[in-house]
Amino acid sequence: MENLLVAENIYKRFGNFTALNNVSIDIPRESIFGLLGPNGAGKTTLLRIINQITMPDEGRVYLEGKPLHPDDIAHIGYLPEERGLYKSMKVGEQALYLARLKGLSKAEAKERLNYWFKRLEIEGWWDKKIQELSKGMAQKVQFVITVLHRPKLLIFDEPFSGFDPVNANLIKDEILQLKEEGATILFSTHRMESVEELCDYIALIHKSNKLLDGKVSEIKKEYKSNTFEVGLDARDEAVLRRELEERFVLGPAKFKSINEDLKLTIKLKDNEPSNDLIQFLLSRARINHFVEVIPSVNDIFIKTVTQDA
Ligand code: ADP
Ligand code: MG
Repeated sequence: MENLLVAENIYKRFGNFTALNNVSIDIPRESIFGLLGPNGAGKTTLLRIINQITMPDEGRVYLEGKPLHPDDIAHIGYLPEERGLYKSMKVGEQALYLARLKGLSKAEAKERLNYWFKRLEIEGWWDKKIQELSKGMAQKVQFVITVLHRPKLLIFDEPFSGFDPVNANLIKDEILQLKEEGATILFSTHRMESVEELCDYIALIHKSNKLLDGKVSEIKKEYKSNTFEVGLDARDEAVLRRELEERFVLGPAKFKSINEDLKLTIKLKDNEPSNDLIQFLLSRARINHFVEVIPSVNDIFIKTVTQDA
């Protein structure tokens, strides 16, 4: 698939400190790309470089195959980490003003703002001052302003951080919808566990280095260990356990189920089909629960960091 944005061999230093050490990312068109890593990893620095707020010391950024140009800002919507709105201005007035700066006519801006305010159920906020809004409320307004001019690339720096779970979910759904409508989305987060289902692609950044990147489904395939969670109803659990032990590698159950049965994780040999296990179990127990263990991005991150160290 063609990449909308490519950042190539980016280095950024602040004095003696290297904030980005040869980081490259490729963002396929109409995908959601998650830039994941703990605080201080270098995520914001990379997003600021892509937005031409800071210059890299080395490396290049390409949009649609061409070196990034100041005019490209018109095609990018950016929600920065520090959410800056003028505190004493009214919400509607400010939204209109910022929309006009992005090249929308007054009528267009009004129409789109009405649509979004209704959609996010914030119509009542139009005449409130920004300083009357909570952090989450202001962030909702800023989200609207970021997407209003329908840029092809949307960049959200920690878009969920100021939100309660309900609003975080609402913004997640909006991001998915924006992708459906053809936008390409790059976002950063330090909360790896809560957003992986949103991402088609990820890059894991740790201490200025990219540890891993690619398609989420491919990465998970690579890191899974042919292990299954099973819940079993057997006449004699001790006997079953012994039989299983002779044939497979057993581990403790890390899942809950409503049944009072024997719960285990069972690891097969690397390329052994799961049907072997099912076959083995069929004559010995009733299978109440059978699920492959898919590593979370967080598990993968921890594994990669430990290997790296
Ligand atoms: P993240 O967004 O992943 O939490 P940042 O990109 O904000 O991380 O920061 C990465 C590192 O670079 C941090 O150690 C931070 O202190 C440092 N850093 C970022 N911007 C500057 C700056 N303007 N001057 C000096 N150090 C900076
Ligand atoms: Mg940051």
